[in-house]
Order: sequence, then C-alpha cells, then structure tokens
Amino acid sequence: MKRNAARGTTATMAPILEERKSSIMTADGCGGAGIACDKVSVSGSVSQRACAYCGARVVLNPITNACHIIHGPIGCSSYTWDIRGSLTSGEDLFRHSFCTDMRETDIIFGGEKKLIASIDEAVEALHPKVIFVYATCIVGIIGDDVHQVCADAEERHGIRVIPVQAPGFSGTKSTGYRLGGQAIMDLIGSNPFPRERAHGVNILGDFNLAGETWIVKGYCAHLGIDVVTGITGDASVEGLMRAPEAKVNVVQCAGSMSALAETMETELDIPFIKVSFYGIEDTTSSLVRMAEALGDERVVRATRDFCSEETRKLEPLIARYTPLLAGKRAAIYVGGGFKAISLIRQFREFGIETVMVGTQTGRPEDYDVIRSLVNPGCVILDDANPAELERFMVEKGADILVGGVKERPLAYKLGVAFCDHNHERKHPLAGYVGVRNFAEEINSSMNSPVWRYV
Ligand code: SF4
Repeated sequence: MKRNAARGTTATMAPILEERKSSIMTADGCGGAGIACDKVSVSGSVSQRACAYCGARVVLNPITNACHIIHGPIGCSSYTWDIRGSLTSGEDLFRHSFCTDMRETDIIFGGEKKLIASIDEAVEALHPKVIFVYATCIVGIIGDDVHQVCADAEERHGIRVIPVQAPGFSGTKSTGYRLGGQAIMDLIGSNPFPRERAHGVNILGDFNLAGETWIVKGYCAHLGIDVVTGITGDASVEGLMRAPEAKVNVVQCAGSMSALAETMETELDIPFIKVSFYGIEDTTSSLVRMAEALGDERVVRATRDFCSEETRKLEPLIARYTPLLAGKRAAIYVGGGFKAISLIRQFREFGIETVMVGTQTGRPEDYDVIRSLVNPGCVILDDANPAELERFMVEKGADILVGGVKERPLAYKLGVAFCDHNHERKHPLAGYVGVRNFAEEINSSMNSPVWRYV
C-alpha cells in the first residue's frame, strides 16, 4: 500500500502573516476579488523569489558568446553562476562567471577602478563581442558610476559594453527581467526592419534548458517556419542583432519576456503572441497559432497535420500512465504563470488534480486563468514562503511538488515526490518529447518504492 507521507505528516502549521493573506486564496469556482500579486515581497516572509539582479541574469546569461561581468561581491557571482541548464550549439563563454570580487576596501574607496581593470582584462584575454556589466546591491549602495565606466570602455575597446543596473534590492525578480530586456534592446537597437521583408519568428523566453529551444526549432524546421533567433536560448550576439527581421515574436515565458515583447512591438513593429510548449494541449495550440500568425495557409495545414500525428503517437503513453497516475494530487510552485497554467493542463491529461498552485512572478491575468482551470478548494498563492508551501501541501495531501531547486528539499523533507521544472533539470520537458519525459518522471517519482520507507 502506498503511503503518502505529506498526508501522514503532523507538520506544525505556521500561522500566515497578516500582510500575506491577500496573496493567498482558495479557488471557489466563481469570480470575486483577485489575488494580490506582482508586488515587492513582504519583509520577513523569506520569499522563494530570487532578486532583481538574478532576474536580469536569467534573461541575459544564455547569450552564449557574451562576457558577463558581475560588479559586486563574489557571492552574487557564484549565486548565479551557470544558473540554468542553458545549452549552447556554439561558443560557451557565457558559462564562465566573471566578477570584480568587491571587498571591504573597494566598498569604502569605491570599485570603479577595479571594474575598469576587469573590463580591460576581459577584452584582452577573451576578445568578447559584447560585455554585460551587472551592478549588484553593494554597487547600488555606494554609487559607482557603472554607466560612465561602460561608456568609456566602449570607446576604448570599440565593442558594446552594456550596463545592467540591477541591484537586488531595486525591485522584484520581474524588475530584473525588465532590465534584462532593456539591455537586449540596447544591443539590438530600435531601427525597424522593413515589414514587407520581415520573415519567420523570434522565440522569446525559452532559455534552451536541457535543449528545449532545439526541440521547438526542430518542429519549426520541419514545418517550414524560419526561426530568426532565440531570445535568449542558444543565442549569439550576431543572431540577436538580426532579431528585428522577424515577422512575429512568440513569447514562451511571458513573465520574463512580456515587457521586451511589448517594447519590440512598439519600437520595431513586431507583433507578438504568447505560447507554451509544455503539454500536448498547449504545444499543439501554440504551434498552430504560430503558423496562423505567419499567415501561410500551407504551413497552417502542415502544422495541424503534424500536431494531430504527434498527439496520436502519444495516445499509448497516456493510456499506459493514466491508470498509474489518475487520482493523485499535485502541488505546483514555479517562476511564471505560463508554466503553472500548462502544468495544470498537463496533470489533467493524466487524471491528476492540482490542489495547490503558486508562482513567483505571476500577473493578475495569469491568476485569472489559473482560477478558471482548477477545481474549487485548490489553494492559489503568489510569492509564497516555505512555511506556506509546507502548510498547504500537507493540508491538501499533495503527492508531488513541481518546482525548482529551492523547493526540492521542502518536498523531500515532507516525504513527497518532486519534479524539477526549473534550473537543474537535465532532460527536456517541452514539446511532444517533453510529454513523454514528464510522464516518466512524475510516475517514477510518485510511484517510487522509496516512499514506503520514509
Ligand atoms: S540580493 Fe543583492 S547581494 Fe544578494 S545576490 Fe542579489 S544582488 Fe547580490
């Protein structure tokens, strides 16, 4: 008999902080006031969110042939070093983390000289095409003029040196996403490409974790859809400079890329659609909408046929795993709303009910969709802390938690299965192949014999 450790746990039910109550709700199947979200974290709540600087680095780091210099203490650098499993098909300069290693004396006397020396050394040793310089908390406090240092370095070396003023305290992780997007605009410029010659798509908000951009690019190649560049999965500086050529932007991670997509629409005249390549339903609808947005009837027909065929191929998989998974309960805590929405649908494909769902950076419109998808009684929470996650996982009897590196120990501590849908995963979960990997992973985790001994 399978034992559900979370249900059997008599965890201490930590009280919910008064200021957090408006960010937690129970779906009740009807409308009413929305959830409080997209705000700075409540002090003392020990948010699961990363800082603004981390948000900027998430967006920019996958640019494979850029040099990323962190102006700050070594801890900020190591915290985001090789931060995601973004893969490259070309150069791998992005996998190194360069840092000015600010110490006490630099903080007292200023760190500009150290930054200048670091940029000069990087140019001499690495010959990068672009350098991104990230200002972290302490630099924001002491007020080094990072903009001026970067402008001088551009003149000295004749390459782009782009400042990213993202001290961790300057806002939420979403602020960092916006700043990362601004740095990309700074790189590609705002000269619109002639629309009559525009072609293909840019894929925004896919960071090529475990090679997921390659899966989507493979589908596009098969269907005759030209991908101009990923922003920023497996991106190169040269590829990004061609981004204005795209006819349409497709935005996978809307939380991190909506602001950039809106700017590109305003300044470069590129419209965008929001997509998700997680789960059969969302992958199919995204590929079809992508083809429709390009306006080529032949491609639309080919895409519909391709999606029907891929869905048909997955029927035996669904039939095999549904009896093993149906009736189980899932808890979801991920970065952005698009992923949470896809996961709810994906669990539903196997007869699994989502009983708790939250995000770090969801927007009100994401939570509206989430509320429309879950059953009454499902707990929905924004910018949660570990005590809240623990409380609701136990209360709702979750069999599995889907999250990232910070949520993994929490699940295991409670004796609950876990699925990494974030930084550390080594196999892709996107596209039709991702459906197969996802089913195998959640089944082997939830139905593992190990839970009998916990
Ligand atoms: S919060 Fe500040 S000190 Fe901490 S990692 Fe972010 S930038 Fe660095």
